[in-house]
Amino acid sequence: DKTSAKGFGARSVRRDGEQITTWTYFKRIVLISLDFWPTLVAAVVCLVITQMLQIMAPNVQGSIFDGIIAFLQHPESGRGRFETAMATYVVVNLLQGCFSGLKALAQELVQRRMACSVRLKLFASVIRMDIAFFDTMHTGQLTSRLTNDASQMTQPLSTLMNDLLANVLLLVGGMLMAFRTSWKLSILALTIVPPITYSYRAYAKWARKVTRSIYCAYGEANSTATDAISNIRTVRGFSTEEFEAGKYSDSINTALGHGVRNAYVGASVTAFSTYLNLGTAVLILWYGGQLVCDGNGQMSIGSLITFQLYWNMMNSAFISLGNVFNDLIRSSSAAERVFSLIDARPDVNPDEGEIVTRESVKGHLQLKGIQFRYRSRPDSIVLKGIDIEMEPGTTTALVGKSGGGKSTLVHLLMRFYEPTAGDIILDGRNTKLLSSKSVRQCCGFVAQDTQLFSCSVEENLGYGLGRDHTKEELIEACKAANAHEFILEMEEGYETRVGEKGIMLSGGQKQRLAIARCFLRKPRMLFLDEATSALDAENEAMVQAALEKLITELHSTVVLIAHRLSTVINATQICVVHKGAIMERGTHEDLLKTGGVYSQLVSRQLSRDASAVMDA
Ligand code: ADP
Repeated sequence: DKTSAKGFGARSVRRDGEQITTWTYFKRIVLISLDFWPTLVAAVVCLVITQMLQIMAPNVQGSIFDGIIAFLQHPESGRGRFETAMATYVVVNLLQGCFSGLKALAQELVQRRMACSVRLKLFASVIRMDIAFFDTMHTGQLTSRLTNDASQMTQPLSTLMNDLLANVLLLVGGMLMAFRTSWKLSILALTIVPPITYSYRAYAKWARKVTRSIYCAYGEANSTATDAISNIRTVRGFSTEEFEAGKYSDSINTALGHGVRNAYVGASVTAFSTYLNLGTAVLILWYGGQLVCDGNGQMSIGSLITFQLYWNMMNSAFISLGNVFNDLIRSSSAAERVFSLIDARPDVNPDEGEIVTRESVKGHLQLKGIQFRYRSRPDSIVLKGIDIEMEPGTTTALVGKSGGGKSTLVHLLMRFYEPTAGDIILDGRNTKLLSSKSVRQCCGFVAQDTQLFSCSVEENLGYGLGRDHTKEELIEACKAANAHEFILEMEEGYETRVGEKGIMLSGGQKQRLAIARCFLRKPRMLFLDEATSALDAENEAMVQAALEKLITELHSTVVLIAHRLSTVINATQICVVHKGAIMERGTHEDLLKTGGVYSQLVSRQLSRDASAVMDA
């Protein structure tokens, strides 16, 4: 995270130099809540009324007791006083119930709407982030921010209303009423305030640190669980169930350890303040009892009871106010995590820059001195200065050992990442100045592991097409991609749902769908990562034939990562990529004549069976 605030109101500095305090988050949360201001105002009004009624109650209760005593002493005149006090008490309670219900409803509505609004902002921000961001961020962490953190972070609003505002009203109102009832008792009782304040402040500071560690540990546990569950086949295959369970249990135990420490300190603070309170209660009753008994009429029994009730009210309001800081601090860690994501901006804004269209792009590509390192592994330079020129409609094959940087190069062409140095020139224009979104819309991409969504085949094919397509177009594209037949063989044909990540389809079938997507899209630039593994011979032949058709029919500028000799032979130029640099380049014939790495690769492949791969 780019931001961190280490204590309540503590300062930390964001990258852009702005000072961030915990208050900054509250201001923003309150600003979000103002989007729903009519409901919020209703909630606040109902809250103020409820608290005023609550402040009235002890006074009325005291009057009831004085009424009872008057009734006992003078049955005639005292009865009316008792009955009036009783009736007032009933009305106050009825009104209080009604307004507190309305307040709860209004507040709940505001909070739920806020959580939705935050989730929408968060998702919109995350989905636009650079691919590099997803290399370092775990899916588990992100989903936990969308679910738990998004609802946790609306908690400060509830805390501000239910705990801060409600208790400040009770405290101020209770204090005024207590002084009105007996200023002598009030001054005596207030002597305990400083020690309580001190112990709570110390606890609040400490609690924030512990809470952050708990969240971190749970975040880690979530990541472990998500990792293990989404890679269950690997876990099962390597029989590492116990290892994964151990990792999960370590994180959970760390979180529990912090939680237990938190509980111990919390409990001792509670015990300490309880003793202080009980001591004060003894003092109040002792001194108050003397004021009642000295016979000067300084205080009635009803007033002593009223005072005692106001004192309890102030006390619990004060304790709750102490918790307000803890609660605000606790929920501010969620807000911090959510806002840091909402504020995060991708290095490349996909909409910024000149817009190109499929019609305006010819597909002349030039790579000039491309260097690259992944942000997640800054120490290793993946590409060390690549220069390639590709004329429109030509095919460039990238071959070489795996790990050489071929896929990375294609990712840079797709502008998933920005080169660390060097430029990619499209039709004479630096792609840095072009809207990366519009450039991507002119590109087609067939990856080794085609990603599909858990919707129907048809929806997957039209995904991101950006225009309507007819059923005929769709079928034609699928026929060209050798996909039509297998789609029809499925129970619901084009309507068949492919399951999460397309789990119902084989690798080869998914690739043919990806090829069909390209036939539909008719891109100016086509990037193909030939699948090497997990394809049976029949599937491989079909994928191969579809790819060849794609290359010859679309006349796009093609960059292909090739593993099979048959795909490479016809390429306009072949680049042998090794350890991030181009070792050899030329046509198949040129390179064979040179007798370098490429010719070795070829002879090695020829000596194997026809389906062997060229990346050995
Ligand atoms: P090739 O396609 O030639 O097999 P790659 O481009 O996939 O090579 O990988 C080149 C190097 O970059 C490898 O060392 C690989 O481990 C590293 N690499 C690939 N993708 C990432 C990533 N997302 N984050 C960090 N390193 C990566």
